[in-house]
Amino acid sequence: MTKVQLSYGIRDGVPVPITAITPESNGNKCDCVCPACGKALQARTLGKKRAAHFAHKAASNCQPETIQHQTAKFLLQWRIKSAITDGKPLLLNWCCESCAKNFSMDITKSVESVEVEKGIASIRPDVVTIDHEGNPVALIEVVFENHPSDEKVQFAKERQFNLIEFNIKADPETALKTLETSEVLSPSRVRPCHSEYCALNDFSDTQKPPTKDSPLSSDPHCLREGETEETSSGWLPVVVGVLFAGCVLRAGWKSLSKWLR
Ligand SMILES: [Zn+2]
Ligand SMILES: [Zn+2]
Repeated sequence: MTKVQLSYGIRDGVPVPITAITPESNGNKCDCVCPACGKALQARTLGKKRAAHFAHKAASNCQPETIQHQTAKFLLQWRIKSAITDGKPLLLNWCCESCAKNFSMDITKSVESVEVEKGIASIRPDVVTIDHEGNPVALIEVVFENHPSDEKVQFAKERQFNLIEFNIKADPETALKTLETSEVLSPSRVRPCHSEYCALNDFSDTQKPPTKDSPLSSDPHCLREGETEETSSGWLPVVVGVLFAGCVLRAGWKSLSKWLR
């Protein structure tokens, strides 16, 4: 069994990143439990060979992916709960891969509470936000390998709940840090999409969105990392073209007036 290293523990319902552990709260004194199994953790911040981390005090069967998945759910719940308590909005910004339009919403809007793994009818979303009447508002899924099941997608569609996905597979540890600290959260997908384009093409159903490798159209696309609006659009060649044309006209006019004299 390999020793799993954790970057977050939970203390009194609050996520504790390993970076918050002081020499006084190191080791067993960290008073933290595992986000996946709830068993006691040890903080190990003084080791020379390995970066600071939490580890289970006793032997455990927790797998890294399970821990990251559980930690992501916990962080989402904690962020939404904190925003509700503070009476502040928690903004989600995203770009729809199908229509390349940007959207924004406040995940706390009309929300009174938030729960993890709450059974609703036959489904059990990772995180669900609930309004003052006890009805679900949005279903949130932390995506690793599996996208939400067709059943979940259909369920959300029929009842007009938002279905929000956070894909953490590419770089789980960075994704967790972002969920913990970023002011604005960026889900990988939100359904339904309210753009005219997506309504016409019915991308609100179970159909998978086009990917980077097989885009729906080569035209509009969500900006990738390191890409900016300016580099992807064509106003620069237009400016250069106009300047060049100006120079040519000026030179032409000069020689014409010389010739006329
Ligand atoms: Zn565990
Ligand atoms: Zn769309």
